[in-house]
Amino acid sequence: MDFKGKVAVVTGAANGIGRGTALAYAKHGASVVAVDKDAAGAKACADAIVQQGGKAIAVGADVTRSAEVAAYVKAALDAFGRIDCFFINAGIEGRVCPIHEYDEAIFDAVIGVNVKGVFLGMKHVLPVMIAQRSGAIVNTASTAGFVGSPGIAPYCASKHAVIGLTKAVSGEVARQGIRVNAVCPGPV
Ligand code: NAD
Repeated sequence: MDFKGKVAVVTGAANGIGRGTALAYAKHGASVVAVDKDAAGAKACADAIVQQGGKAIAVGADVTRSAEVAAYVKAALDAFGRIDCFFINAGIEGRVCPIHEYDEAIFDAVIGVNVKGVFLGMKHVLPVMIAQRSGAIVNTASTAGFVGSPGIAPYCASKHAVIGLTKAVSGEVARQGIRVNAVCPGPV
């Protein structure tokens, strides 16, 4: 894989799959924008990339807040001038319990990060990609996006929604040179 000259934005880059993917993008030549609510963790990710000879910036942002999403898009454009790859990956699992015991606020948080975060990311980045007439978005869904996993129903619902968003939006922008896909990891 050759990502030289490409700019990759990764949400949830402070930890786990996002951090690993950010480091992999950089290893293959991309300039990386590491986004996370955990600003210190995002900075640690960007610092690790720079220490390895790559290019990266960090942006602390909550993916559920439109103004903060707009700010990370602006930061990416100010630093690198374009966005080629967008990994919309920030997500939370919520509680593990039967639905009748599930806390309403945690339901809202799971849907907020996992669904609204994906919506806002695509809403703010697609205008950039449409103007470029190129780009690739990858949303992190889950195996829970296509099967029912007892105990994590709100998470399941959120990841089914990610797959629905991905399928619908991919059809909206395919003719403008933009690919929208989802990955469905099992337990990592
Ligand atoms: P993780 O907890 O290690 O990392 C998630 C990151 O997202 C954290 O750094 C966290 O700070 C960030 N984040 C959470 N809420 C945020 C918000 N509102 N705004 C900005 N950043 C926020 O999780 P992970 O295991 O690496 O999971 C990454 C993605 O993969 C998630 O979407 C998750 O649902 C999905 N996934 C994970 C697994 C697994 O087994 N780990 C399996 C399937 C899917």
